Amino acid sequence: MHEYSIVSSLLERVGAEARAHNAIAVHRLTVRIGAAAGVDPDLLSKAYQMFREGTLCAGAELCVQRVEEQWACPECGRTIARGEILRCGQCAMPARLVSGDEIILEQIEMEVP
Ligand SMILES: [Zn+2]
Repeated sequence: MHEYSIVSSLLERVGAEARAHNAIAVHRLTVRIGAAAGVDPDLLSKAYQMFREGTLCAGAELCVQRVEEQWACPECGRTIARGEILRCGQCAMPARLVSGDEIILEQIEMEVP
């Protein structure tokens, strides 16, 4: 499942960061997930609950920030609102996704002795 591989690479990156800072525990993770990233937040947090056992993140809360998808015209840069036809009214160019497909590890709160 998609969410499982996201969580496992997330925990790997957090583990590497924590080791680099000699952290003894991680308190909170914040990830930013675009609405178009194809990630189910419920599945993600379920996967996280499973995978964090026995890691530095065992007691860490996972905060998911959802980012709406945003489209724009590649020609004139006009942004296209949600629900609008995904084509520029001026240039007739098909809109391009400018954000909303990202999965970003935004913040790690860890305890460093
Ligand atoms: Zn345009």
